[in-house]
Amino acid sequence: MARIVMKFGGTSMAGTERIRRVARIVQRQQAAGHEVAVVVSAMAGETDRLVNFCREADPLYDPAEYDVVVASGEQVTSGLLAMHLQALGCKARSWLGWQVPIKTDDAHAKARIEDIDAAALMASMASGEIAVIPGFQGISPAGRITTLGRGGSDTSAVAVAAAVKADRCDIYTDVDGVYTTDPRIVAKARKLKNVTYEEMLELASVGSKVLQTRSVSLAMKEGVRVQVLSSFIDDDAPAADTIPGTMIVSDDELARIQEGLDMERQLITGIAADKNEAKITLTRIADRPGAVAAIFGPLAAANINVDMIIQNIAKDRGETDVTFTVPISDLARTQSLLEERKDTIGYYRMLANSKVAKISVVGVGMRSHAGVAATMFRALADRGINIQAITTSEIKVSVLIDEDETELAVRVLHTAYEMDGE
Ligand code: ASP
Ligand code: MG
Repeated sequence: MARIVMKFGGTSMAGTERIRRVARIVQRQQAAGHEVAVVVSAMAGETDRLVNFCREADPLYDPAEYDVVVASGEQVTSGLLAMHLQALGCKARSWLGWQVPIKTDDAHAKARIEDIDAAALMASMASGEIAVIPGFQGISPAGRITTLGRGGSDTSAVAVAAAVKADRCDIYTDVDGVYTTDPRIVAKARKLKNVTYEEMLELASVGSKVLQTRSVSLAMKEGVRVQVLSSFIDDDAPAADTIPGTMIVSDDELARIQEGLDMERQLITGIAADKNEAKITLTRIADRPGAVAAIFGPLAAANINVDMIIQNIAKDRGETDVTFTVPISDLARTQSLLEERKDTIGYYRMLANSKVAKISVVGVGMRSHAGVAATMFRALADRGINIQAITTSEIKVSVLIDEDETELAVRVLHTAYEMDGE
């Protein structure tokens, strides 16, 4: 007997037929003798719809009220799934975020889980009851509803898996695993059997939409074994243990697996594209200590995540331009914060461009190989794709390019790193 947390995304929960199918998959897992908790997303498109209502109400909406609105999508699907399970003769009940409770901080719209009190949940699971938990939501220290940021129900699932000490967290989604890149862009993309936490973290943070970034770092920190697999399987398919998804593993486990298969480590594991960043340039900033602190301090205080940053050395007059990227969803707030501080910071103009895309190549293999970035720059240059910014980490190289060239860039790189399958 194992204890398993199953998570179903929005596409799997979109409508009565699909929820019924999910209920049957869950029922089968329980019938195999496992203790089961299920974490669900809102129906596909629902959260977007709710976010839109908030924007229409007020572009600078109160994040606490936004949470009240957008958390409702998951409340609906968790209640419905519990009903479907009951209709199949299973014991099941929903546990809203505040009922578990899933305690978070008070950073509304992007709250972090601080603690899950899993005692009641575990007692219920041990009694044979299936626990259905709405993803994405929690409760703040002040007792208000919080949400974890878009895609947050993956993080809910991993956090619940850690809290109930699950043997595995199975994330059922509309793709059947993690691919070398988006198969809708590159038909020759291949499914990966295993990827490391670190690679997955980089891929998730740069727009591979399979898992939310935070869920991966949490899994890595807590040592939760995560499997990504498709929920679009036949009703009578075998239980999850034998479905070929992608397993997210530690570096050591991967090394052992590859040794056993006598495989060479791939140089690049995946390529991801992210169109959710916007580029801001502040021109003619004084090249003196404290200048960039005056820009990024207030953004940090407002919980805005800055990603790429470029500052050139001063040209004439001891002035320089600073370019950086923020999530598009934070662009309006960033602009208004910087506008307010125009005099303190002392810049000349603020330029914003949201028609950019960040393309990243990721792989632990590049730790031991030179030339990965050079190959990328050459391949893009050969197609006339201009690079506007660059960042690197030990296992990742990212470039910022014109959004219109996203698909071309991904295809060109997939070929350049010899990743194309049959
Ligand atoms: N429904 C939320 C969203 O779309 C959370 C999730 O599905 O992971 O962002
Ligand atoms: Mg998702």
